[in-house]
Amino acid sequence: MIIAIDGPSGAGKSTVAKAVAKKLDFDCLDTGAMYRAVAWKALQGGTALDDAEALEVIAATCPIDFGRDEGTQTVAIGGIDVTAAIRTAEIDRAVSPVSACPKVREALVEQQRRIGRAGNYVVEGRDIGTVVFPDAEVKVFLTASPEERAHRRVRQNVDRGIGSIDYETVLADIIRRDDIDSNRAASPLKAAEDAVPMDSTGCYIEDVINHICSLAVKAGAGEVSQ
Ligand code: C5P
Repeated sequence: MIIAIDGPSGAGKSTVAKAVAKKLDFDCLDTGAMYRAVAWKALQGGTALDDAEALEVIAATCPIDFGRDEGTQTVAIGGIDVTAAIRTAEIDRAVSPVSACPKVREALVEQQRRIGRAGNYVVEGRDIGTVVFPDAEVKVFLTASPEERAHRRVRQNVDRGIGSIDYETVLADIIRRDDIDSNRAASPLKAAEDAVPMDSTGCYIEDVINHICSLAVKAGAGEVSQ
């Protein structure tokens, strides 16, 4: 079974996806981490972010691997662990032009389908319900106000010790990224027609998690653990 969770950055997708996966004993696939890994590799090698051919080569030839380290999901590209390196403000800025490149998307979507079809997955991203898994059994479009998302991202950056902790800078980046992600030609951020809209502004994240679990059970997932 596939549970697709799409929405803008900072809407709470990762937190919700991890909790839902744990309760249903599913695996999690963070597709944003894959675009971030390609952006990291591009910056590392001095590839211009508008060089579509070079970006395509990275996406098509550098294997992206997910692993586990003491309960935390790790990400590697070309055998190099980039779990922390892809969460910097520099990558936040570089990732949208990389993910707007259609050939990069093609290569990564193929990998996402291969991973997801191999089991029961909660897949989070921007185009999961519309493009990657249009036949997903459960589709959710999770949003929150830009201000709430900026506050959450600042708290997250403080906890992780990486990324900007200046609210205005983070808010401006979120608005800029929403704009690029929503208006790009290739697979723009938008809700699938059959996605269930959920707004996490000012509500308990537990309610969102429980709502998604109940949709999954209705769609045929097994038991929900507490
Ligand atoms: O989810 P996260 O903020 O880590 O995603 C980083 C970037 O990757 C997004 O801003 C977007 O440009 C891109 N992305 C995408 N399609 C996805 C997942 C992420 O274009 N399915």
